[in-house]
Amino acid sequence: MQLQVKQEKMLIAGQWIAAEQTFDVFDPQDNRLIAKVPLATENDMLMAIEKADEAYLNNKYWPTYARMAVLQRVASYIEENKERYAETIALEGSKTIQEARGEVKRAIQTIKISAEEARRINGETINFDQSESGENRVGYYYRFPVGVIGAITPFNDPLNLVAHKVGPAIASGNAVIVKPASDTPLSALLLAEAFTKSGLPAGMLSVVTGSGRDVGDVLVTHPSITMITFTGGVDVGKKIAHKAGIKKVGMELGSNSPVIVLKDADVEKAVASCVSGAFTVAGQNCIGVQRVYVEKEVYDQFLELYKHRTSELHLGDKMDPLTDIGPMINEREAKRVEAWVNQAVVEGAKIQIGGKKERAFYYPTILTDVPSNAVIAQEEIFGPVVLVYSVEDVHQAIDQSNAVDYGLQAGIFTKDLENAFLTIQELEVGGIMVNDSSDYRIDAMPFGGVKQSGLGREGIKSSIEAMTELKVVSFKLN
Ligand code: NAD
Repeated sequence: MQLQVKQEKMLIAGQWIAAEQTFDVFDPQDNRLIAKVPLATENDMLMAIEKADEAYLNNKYWPTYARMAVLQRVASYIEENKERYAETIALEGSKTIQEARGEVKRAIQTIKISAEEARRINGETINFDQSESGENRVGYYYRFPVGVIGAITPFNDPLNLVAHKVGPAIASGNAVIVKPASDTPLSALLLAEAFTKSGLPAGMLSVVTGSGRDVGDVLVTHPSITMITFTGGVDVGKKIAHKAGIKKVGMELGSNSPVIVLKDADVEKAVASCVSGAFTVAGQNCIGVQRVYVEKEVYDQFLELYKHRTSELHLGDKMDPLTDIGPMINEREAKRVEAWVNQAVVEGAKIQIGGKKERAFYYPTILTDVPSNAVIAQEEIFGPVVLVYSVEDVHQAIDQSNAVDYGLQAGIFTKDLENAFLTIQELEVGGIMVNDSSDYRIDAMPFGGVKQSGLGREGIKSSIEAMTELKVVSFKLN
C-alpha cells in the first residue's frame, strides 16, 4: 500500500488536467490525507461539455462492434489491475478491503454486461395498418443515443455506480461527463484510466472533479446536456430535478428499506440476511435494511439471535481482511447518526446493542420501541442502525412498511405463497426480495424506486433504454 499523498489530475476529453486549486481526500479511518484532487472551475466543466458535444457529433456513427470492443478492453484492464482498484475503493471510502474486492468484481460485470447489451439495442417493426390511416404503410422504430449525458454519483460505491452510468452510456453511443462524489473521486478517475487505455475516442468520457454545487450546477443546467443521470440523496436529487429543465432525468435516490419476517420464516436465515443487509458498508447502502417487522410469534427468537449475530461482527481496520465493518465516510456523518439515535432514545427507543461512536466509526446498532414518527424511522439513516418491530400479522407489517415516503426495495421471509404474493402486490417499492433482505441486487436487473426513492430504472438494459430515444419511421407505399 502506498502511503504518499497522490497528486491527481482529472480527465477532460482525453487529457489529464491539473487545476489551479485542489481539494483534499482523506482516509476516513484515521483522517490521513491521501490525495489532492483538482477542484474544477465552471470553465473546466464548460470545456468538458464542449468537447463532449464535439466528440458525440464526430462519433455519431461509431459502430456497435467498436463500442463493444472498447468496453470489453475496459473490463479486461480492470481485471488485470483489480487489486489496485480494490485498494483505492477501500482507501478513500468506507469499504473494507473484502467489500472493495466485491465491488471491483461487480464493476467488471457491469462493464461486460454493457458490452453485451450493446448488441441488443434494437427496434421493432410497426403494424401501421391496424389503423385505417395506416393502410399501405410499412415502418419501424429504432433507438438512437440521447447525445451528451451528465452523470453525478455518490460516495458509497465509488467504482460500480460510476460504471453503471458510463458502461450503458458508451454501449449506446453517448458521450458522458461524470461528476463523482468529492469524498471518493479516486475510483472514478481509475475507471477513466481504463477507458483511456482501451481506445475510447477522446471526449466521449470526461471525469470532472469538484464541488457538486458549482460544477454540478453547470452540468445540470447546460442546454447541450440532454440527460442527467443522478445517484445520491433525495435533497440533492430534488434540487437537480428542479433545475434540469426539459432534459431526460434519471434519479436513483435513498430509502429506509423494510424487511418483513413472518412466523413461518426460517429465522436463522432471516437473521443472517438482516445482519449483512443492515451493516454492510457501515450501513451506507441505499438498499440497506433499516426497518424489520417481525410477526409476534417469532419476535423474541429473532431479536435474541439478531443481537447475538451482530455482537460477533468485527469493527476495525478496513485493510484487514478479517474486518466486517469499517468507518463511516467521515466523522460528521457518524455524529449525525449518533444524534439521531440519541433523539430516538429521548422519544422512547431502547438500544439493544451498539449505540456507540468512536471517531468516524459507529458500532452496529439495533433499536426497538422506536416511535413510528421518529426521524430515524421516517428518514434514511444511511448508517449501521436498524429498527426492529413486533407486528400482529402480515397486514400490519405491510401497512407499517408503506408508511414512509420512500420505496426502493423490500424483503419478505415466509414459506407461505399467499403472503408472499400479497406483499409483492401491496408493498410500494421498486423491487421485492422473497426470502432475502432488501439488500439484494445483480447488475443486470432493473433497479430503482418509487415515491421519493427515484425516477426511472437503472440496470444495464434499463439504463440503455433511458439513455436512448426512439425514432419512428413510416414509408408510404403509394
Ligand atoms: P449526495 O446527494 O450528498 O451527493 C451525490 C452527488 O451529488 C455527489 O457527487 C455530490 O457532489 C453531488 N452534488 C451535491 N450537490 C449538488 C448540486 N447542487 N448539484 C449537482 N450535484 C450535486 O449523496 P452521497 O452522500 O454522496 O450519497 C448518499 C446518498 O446516495 C444516499 O441517500 C443513498 O441512498 C443514495 N444512493 C442511492 C443509490 C440508488 O441507486 N438508489 C445508490 C447509492 C446511493
